Amino acid sequence: MAPTSASAAQAARAAELRRLLNHAAHAYYVLDAPVMEDPVYDRLYRELLELEAAHPELHSPDSPTQRVGGAPAESFSSVEHRIPLLSLDNAFSLDELEAWYGRLLKVLDRTPQAGEPLPQLAMVGELKIDGNALALSYEHGVLVRAATRGDGERGEEITANVRTIQSVPLRLQLEHPPAWVEVRGEALIPDGTFAAINAERAARGEALFANPRNACAGTLRQLDPKVVAARRLDFFAYTLHLPDDGESSGVANGGDPARPTSQWESLQWLQAAGFKVNPNAELLPSLAAVEAFFARWEDERKTLDYATDGVVVKLDDLRLQADAGFTQKAPRWAIALKYAAEEAPSKLLRLACQVGRTGVVTPVAEFEPVPLAGTTVSRATLHNADRLAELDLHAGDTIVVRKAGEIIPEVVRVLPELRPAGAVPLQLPQVCPECGSELVREQGEAATRCVNSSCPAILRGSLRHWVSKGALDVDGLGVKLIEQLVEKGLVGSIADLYRLDGALLASLERMGARSAENLVGALAASKAQPWHRQLYGLGIHHVGEVNAKALAQTFPSAAELASAAADTPERITAVFGIGEQIVQSLQQWFATPANQRLLEQLEALGFSLALSTAERQVAAGASGPAGDGAAALQGQTFVLTGTLPSLSRRQAQDMIEAAGGKVTGSVSKKTSYVVAGAEAGSKLAKAESLGVAVLDEAGLLQLLAQGS
Ligand code: NAD
Repeated sequence: MAPTSASAAQAARAAELRRLLNHAAHAYYVLDAPVMEDPVYDRLYRELLELEAAHPELHSPDSPTQRVGGAPAESFSSVEHRIPLLSLDNAFSLDELEAWYGRLLKVLDRTPQAGEPLPQLAMVGELKIDGNALALSYEHGVLVRAATRGDGERGEEITANVRTIQSVPLRLQLEHPPAWVEVRGEALIPDGTFAAINAERAARGEALFANPRNACAGTLRQLDPKVVAARRLDFFAYTLHLPDDGESSGVANGGDPARPTSQWESLQWLQAAGFKVNPNAELLPSLAAVEAFFARWEDERKTLDYATDGVVVKLDDLRLQADAGFTQKAPRWAIALKYAAEEAPSKLLRLACQVGRTGVVTPVAEFEPVPLAGTTVSRATLHNADRLAELDLHAGDTIVVRKAGEIIPEVVRVLPELRPAGAVPLQLPQVCPECGSELVREQGEAATRCVNSSCPAILRGSLRHWVSKGALDVDGLGVKLIEQLVEKGLVGSIADLYRLDGALLASLERMGARSAENLVGALAASKAQPWHRQLYGLGIHHVGEVNAKALAQTFPSAAELASAAADTPERITAVFGIGEQIVQSLQQWFATPANQRLLEQLEALGFSLALSTAERQVAAGASGPAGDGAAALQGQTFVLTGTLPSLSRRQAQDMIEAAGGKVTGSVSKKTSYVVAGAEAGSKLAKAESLGVAVLDEAGLLQLLAQGS
C-alpha cells in the first residue's frame, strides 16, 4: 500500500498511542511493574507501527517503535554492549510467518521464478522463553561481565547477581577458550518459584509481581546478590558470538568443539562449553516443519514449568544470516512467532442488553471484532449493573478483552488513557429494551429484572427452555422459529405450542410441510416425557435438572409439590440438596395466577405433570413380574435401532428407563424388545432371527401408556 498523508484523527491517534506505549514501556522495563497485559501492549504497538508505515510523516523520534527495550535503570552502572542486543520482529499468524520468509528469500536473492517451488532453507526452531535477555562476556574462558539488554546499545551491569545463577558457568568448560566470547540467552524464573516469591511478598504485604518475567527482571536488579541467589533463577543460552580474528578456527581444538557455521552448531558449542541449552530446540528443514513445530508446542508448552509465549525461528546457516543482516531494531534472519493472544484491546461499539427467561437483564458489550485464543470475538457479557459500574465503562472506550481457551470472553478492564474526550458513562437502561416496562432491582440483589411476565423476551426464553435438550427435548423448534411465533403473536405461552397446527406452521418462513409435520409430531411425543423433565421445563428459578429430579422423586405430581410449597415447606427442604432459596422460588411460582393457569392448560393438553404409574413403582421399589401390564417395563430389556419418526434415541431411552426398563446395546435371547426405526440394520435382523419382539415407535408409546 502506498503511503498517504495522515488525517488529523490519525495523527492524534498516533500521538495518543506513543504517549500510552512510552508510559507502559517505562513501567515495564524500568519499574518492573507493567500497567497493561503484554498482548494488549503488542496489539497497540502494532497499530502504531501500521499507522507509521502508512503515513511516514507520523514517525517521530520519541516513538517506542524506534528503540529496543527500555533505558538502563539508574541503580546499576550502564555498560555498552560489544555487539548490540536487538529485539525480534514478531509474527502473529502463519500468514505473517510466510510473509517474513518471502522477505528473507528476497534479501537473499532467492525468490523463486513463477512456477518454481519455494526454496527451503534450514531453520532452527526454539521456544520463545518469556524471561529476560542477558549478555554474558567471557575473557579467556572466565565470566567477566553480565548485562541486561537495556536499550540494546547499553544495558545494566549486573555481574554479581548473575554469578548466583547456577546454570551460568563462571568458567567455560573448554581446553582452549577463545580470547573472548559473548553469549546471549534468557534468564527466567520457573513457575513454581514465581508462585513462592509472590506468596512471600503477599505475606509481607508487598506488591505482587505481575508475571514470572517481571519477577525475573525485578530480581536481576536486586542490589543484594543474596536475594538473587535465594530466588534460584535459571538460564538458557541461545546465541554465541566468537571473535572474528581467526583465533578460533573451524577445526576442533583438542576436546573443544569446532567453530560453528550454523545456529544448530552454536547451540551444541554452547552446551559443550557448559551452558544449559533448551532441550526443545529443533533443526527444521522446511517452512512446513517450522509450522508443525509451532503447532506442536502450542499445547506442549503448557506442560513446561516456565512461561513461553511463542517460538523463535532462526535461519540456520550463519553465512546466510550475515547476508540477510539487520533492520534498525531486529535481525532479518529471525522471527518470533507468537501464540494466539488470550487478551487484546478493542473499541467498544455499543452497550446492548439481553433479557433472559427469568427477566434478568444482562448488559453485553459489543466491540470491534478481535481475534482471541483462536476465534474472533465481538461480544462479551458484563454480567450486571455492579460490574458495569466497577468497569466504569464510557461510550467509545478502549477495553481489554480476555478469552482463555474455551472460556467465554470477558471484558477485563478499560484503558481510561485512550478514552475520547467528553465520553459519557454507560449504565443499564431504566426500562426493559424489549417491552418498555420499568426495570426493577431488589435490594441486595445483583440482578436487574423485567417483571412483566408477558415481555416477549421472557416468553421467548421460556419457550426455548421448555423445548431444550434437558427439558422436553423437542426437535425442530429453533431460536428463529420461536422468534417468529412470538413476534407474529401465534404463541403467548408454552401451552400455545401444542395448539399449533401443521398448515399454519408450514406457512412460516423457512418451514415446509414436512418439517411442520415433524414438529407437530415431536411436540405430541414430548407429552410423554417424564415428570422431572416437565418440572425442569417450567423454568422455575433455581430448579435445574438435578433439583427437578430430586423434587420429582419426592413429590410425584405438580399438585403435591404446590401444596407442599404452600403448607409444608419443611417437606421440601428435607429433600437432599434443596434449600430455603428454592422453596421461596417454588412458593412464588405456584402462587402466581398465570403459572396456575399454565398448569391447568398443560394438564388439559394431556401432560401428566406427575410420575407415571411405572415411575411410581420404580420409585417405591416395586418389582412386579415382567410382562405384568401394571408393572410397566420393570425387568425388561430394550435395544434401540434405526431412526424413530419423532423421538430421539435419548428421549426413547429416558422414557423406557423412567418406566423401569433397561436399554442395552446388543440383541440377545434375553432382549425383551427391539425398538426399530427407519434404516434399522443388523440389530433388527438379529432380533428377527432370535424371535425377539420388534416394536415401532407407536408400539413403544403404547407399551409405555399401558403402564402409566
Ligand atoms: P520480545 O520479547 O517480543 O522478543 C525478543 C526477546 O525474546 C529477546 O530479547 C529475548 O529476551 C527473548 N527470547 C526468548 N527466547 C529466545 C530465543 N530462543 N532466541 C532469541 N530470543 C529469545 O521483544 P522485546 O523487544 O523484548 O519486547 C517486547 C515484549 O515486551 C513484548 O512481549 C511486549 O508485550 C513486552 N512489553 C510489555 C509492556 C507492557 O506494558 N506490558 C511494555 C513494553 C514491552
